[in-house]
Amino acid sequence: MTETPSTPSTAGAPADFDDLLAANDEFAASFDLAGFDGVARAGVAIVTCMDSRIAPLAMLGLHPGDAKIFRNPGGRVTPQALEALVLAVHLLNVDRILVIPHTRCAVASSTEEELQQRVGESAGVDASWHDFNVVADQQAALEHDVHVLRSHPLIGKRALVGGFMYDVDSGRINRLA
Ligand SMILES: [Zn+2]
Repeated sequence: MTETPSTPSTAGAPADFDDLLAANDEFAASFDLAGFDGVARAGVAIVTCMDSRIAPLAMLGLHPGDAKIFRNPGGRVTPQALEALVLAVHLLNVDRILVIPHTRCAVASSTEEELQQRVGESAGVDASWHDFNVVADQQAALEHDVHVLRSHPLIGKRALVGGFMYDVDSGRINRLA
């Protein structure tokens, strides 16, 4: 007699993606974005945080197709963000760029060591080697990122750049740079 091996399971992780693919079936059944060319129809690009409290299109009155959106922890203008924005400005119709970090952001309210420790506890292995690029001063970081864009030889002369803060408790966006 051989025993049937039990299905491997990962504690705390979803078993699979069936729920999301079922939702996609419904989405595709009423899909109305076919034939769309992929430019930013409203001429807008947004750099913002990965935080799930942020709805980048809705908070600016935009709709699918209107904007290019680049997200990362903290909403920083990283080298990868610059790749996206150069393409967005020259090939995808973007002429306004909004950089929008937010209040109560984890990467702006923790130290590098705190995040490494929390991740290490979750992982059960050392995470002190991993960078999370925490933000010590959000205003200074935002001013820096806006300056990087305005002085960029392929972006600054072609797009308006603004720095803003999204308040996750009120939904309001305030201009800071
Ligand atoms: Zn955040």
